[in-house]
Amino acid sequence: MRGPIRWRRVRVAETLSETRTARTLVLDVPGWPGHDAGQHVDVRLTAEDGYTAQRSYSIASADARDRLELTIQEVSAGEVSPYLVQTVEVGDEFELRGPVGGWFRWTSAVTNPVLLIGGGSGIVPLMAMVRARVRSVSQAPFHLIYSARTPDHVLYANELFQVATATNDIKIEFVFTRGGLPEDARRPGRLTSVDLPVLDESVRDGMRIYICGPNGFVESASQLLLAMGHPAATIRTERFGPTGG
Ligand SMILES: Cc1cc2nc3c(=O)[nH]c(=O)nc-3n(C[C@H](O)[C@H](O)[C@H](O)COP(=O)(O)OP(=O)(O)OC[C@H]3O[C@@H](n4cnc5c(N)ncnc54)[C@H](O)[C@@H]3O)c2cc1C
Repeated sequence: MRGPIRWRRVRVAETLSETRTARTLVLDVPGWPGHDAGQHVDVRLTAEDGYTAQRSYSIASADARDRLELTIQEVSAGEVSPYLVQTVEVGDEFELRGPVGGWFRWTSAVTNPVLLIGGGSGIVPLMAMVRARVRSVSQAPFHLIYSARTPDHVLYANELFQVATATNDIKIEFVFTRGGLPEDARRPGRLTSVDLPVLDESVRDGMRIYICGPNGFVESASQLLLAMGHPAATIRTERFGPTGG
C-alpha cells in the first residue's frame, strides 16, 4: 500500500551532466513509497525569505528503494530549471512530493506492444518506461521515437545506444529537428507521418502509445497518429507546459 502524498525533504546524492543544458539529479528520498514508470513529482524550493517556487518533474529512474532520479532541461530565463541544472550541489536539500499521475504510466502488467514518442525533455518519463521494461520480465515490444534538436541534445545517449544494441525487441529511432549526423538519410526537420511506423489495423488497435514533450509537439504527434488511423483510446499524452505557480 502506498501512503498519502506528502512533502518530503530530499538530499542531492549525485549530479550527472547529460548535455550542456540538462542534468540528472540523483536524490536520496528516505521512505519513498515506490512509483511506476511515467509518474512525476512536484519539487518545491524555498528561499531564505520564505518565497517558494514549485514545478513538476518526471521521474527518470525505474522504481528503486529510497532513490529517485530527475532529469532537468534548462529553460532559459526560467525560475527553477536553471537553478536545478547549474546551481544545486551534492548535499543540498529541497522538498518533493509524489509520486503523482495515474494515467501516463507503464507497468509490466501491460503486455501490449508499446510506441513511445518523445520530444526534447519529454524523453524523461519514456526513459523510465524503457528502464522499467529492461528490468522487468516483460517481453512487450517497445519502439521509441525520440525527437531532439541535434545529436548533442540527446539525453541518455550512451544508455539508449546500449539498450538498442542489447535488446532485440526494443527499437530506438531518432528524429533530429535542427541538425543530424552526416550519415543520416533523413533531413533535419520536425516529426512527420513518414517518421512513424505504418501498421495494420489489428496491430494499431492493440497498441499502447505514450507521447510526451512540449504542448505543440504532443499535439502534432497525436494528430499525425489519429490521421494514420490509431484509435484515440490507445494514445496517452503528457504535456510539459509551464507548471509555475
Ligand atoms: C507533468 C510534468 C512533468 C515535467 N517533467 C519535466 C522533466 O522531467 N524535465 C524537465 O526539464 N521539465 C519537466 N517539466 C517542465 C517543468 O515543470 C518546468 O515547466 C520547467 O522546468 C520550466 O520551469 P522554470 O521555472 O525554469 O521556467 P518558468 O519560470 O516557469 O518559465 C520561464 C519561461 O519559460 C516558459 N516555459 C516554462 N516551461 C517551459 C517548458 N517546459 N518548455 C518551454 N517553455 C517553457 C514559460 O512560459 C516562461 O516564459 C514537466 C512539466 C510537467 C507538467
